[in-house]
Amino acid sequence: MQQLESYLGGTWQRGEGDGASLYDPTTAQVVARASTRGLDLGAALRHARDVGGPNLRALTFAQRGALLAAMSKAIHAQRESLIEMGRLNGGNTRGDAKFDIDGATGTLMYYAQLGESLGDRTVQHDGDAITIGRSSRLVGQHILTPKPGVAVHINAFNFPAWGLAEKAACALLAGMPVISKPATATAMMTWGLVKAVVDAEVLPEGVLGLLCGGAGDLLDHLEWGDVVAFTGAASTGETIRRHPRVLAAGVAVNVEADSLNATILDADAEDATYDAFIRAVHTEMTQKAGQKCTATRRILVPRDRLDEVIEDLGERLSATVVGDPALDTVRMGPLASEGQLKSAHEGLTALRTQAEVVWGEPERRAFEGVPEGQGFFLSPLLLKATAPTEPGPVHDVEVFGPVSTILPYDGSAAQAAQIVRLGQGSLVASIYGDDKDFLRDTILGLAGWHGRIVVTDAKVADKALAPGMVLPHLLHGGPGRAGGGEELGGTRGMGLYQQRTAVQGNGPLLARLLDA
Ligand code: NAP
Repeated sequence: MQQLESYLGGTWQRGEGDGASLYDPTTAQVVARASTRGLDLGAALRHARDVGGPNLRALTFAQRGALLAAMSKAIHAQRESLIEMGRLNGGNTRGDAKFDIDGATGTLMYYAQLGESLGDRTVQHDGDAITIGRSSRLVGQHILTPKPGVAVHINAFNFPAWGLAEKAACALLAGMPVISKPATATAMMTWGLVKAVVDAEVLPEGVLGLLCGGAGDLLDHLEWGDVVAFTGAASTGETIRRHPRVLAAGVAVNVEADSLNATILDADAEDATYDAFIRAVHTEMTQKAGQKCTATRRILVPRDRLDEVIEDLGERLSATVVGDPALDTVRMGPLASEGQLKSAHEGLTALRTQAEVVWGEPERRAFEGVPEGQGFFLSPLLLKATAPTEPGPVHDVEVFGPVSTILPYDGSAAQAAQIVRLGQGSLVASIYGDDKDFLRDTILGLAGWHGRIVVTDAKVADKALAPGMVLPHLLHGGPGRAGGGEELGGTRGMGLYQQRTAVQGNGPLLARLLDA
């Protein structure tokens, strides 16, 4: 049985005992184990702080960018074996695994290029120098420098590759060493990714660590100057925010949590826009078996287009083969773990107090290439809300699987915004329409409740990206129940790992000192 080790203090380390079991969600067989018991996590953090931090801070942005490019290449070189790990321990189809791994390498490469463009300097300027006295010689300059500690990254189970890379790219480019803790259930691919980077010997010592298994007493050893970036359930985010050591040491925390993302169909959407809407909803329901934080959970449809939408989505879902992800014909695999399947069924029970199933069989047990009842499978399910304007489970309960609910509305921007806002803050909303007034009113009605809004009209319908695709150039995160965090978005994503300082003094001297 494979025992996943952690990479801490510059060495691979094995925890005591068997630890937690990791499963193949298609067969429900144990495929690996991971233990962190007995590991000295305080020493691991100190090594990152004392060795990794200075190693990284000595480099210019361009040099840090080169490290990210080398990481990306090392991971890409192991793409096939990582895809296999995604199937084995995540139930990923080949397409789903590629989405995760290529998302990781693409994000690292984007930040590599950003590092190159920031150039041969170690200090980033935030705006221009500002004259602050009678003499133009006396100025103030805001600068950004790396926080002095270690960036602790705690990730969710659904993106074991991209989750590590999107956080690490921002922290490493900003100049902070990283210790990454993937969710235990699907840690095999993250382990494979870090092994690829370590084996390629492309990073200075102490710059990247990996913790495979439970968090143990990791947070008890945090110090001022460290940062925690967390992705996962809102309740876990709250526990981390309230951790006594986090509070006592004033550790910065970024939370990316649950989200009830909505998509809105405008009553006047042209055919091309409507087709893009149907394609996107289908992608969001079935890609990674709906286990994406940005997946569409609520679908707002004008009442007079309900039958058309249910029929067209049903047709696409019927053509989606669900089963063993190793088979070429299969387009959707199982959920990642037994716990996720149980939680999806519980969420479904809650949703059905306010919605009815209009496509799919909640109790379906037969899937392509899999003995009946084996594995952690769930049929795609389309529901229709009975009281969409009322607060309740359809706006509160995120079923983390291939499940979305249609919410009929009157076709007005005002009612669309009113219904979507019941989700109390989300990562992304998407609008499919061609009426300019509707689009403007909906964008402005939703902006305060969202981190990202995707607008698709007929002119971009054939090139539109599905709203669940997170891009390194654009902000990822959302207000309210989505956690209030901000990641990615180019240099914006580096902000969490940087201290902003206003430096006052002799302008020409400061320019010489700080431009180096
Ligand atoms: P989770 O149960 O909250 O776990 C997330 C991570 O937190 C795991 O690495 C977990 O480790 C760790 N963790 C749990 N308790 C902890 C504690 N007391 N101290 C330190 N770390 C702790 O979430 P999940 O089930 O993996 O992920 C599903 C959720 O993530 C969904 O709700 C989804 O919406 C959300 N999500 C959000 C985003 C986003 O960007 N906003 C992205 C993806 C997923 P163990 O696995 O070892 O328990």
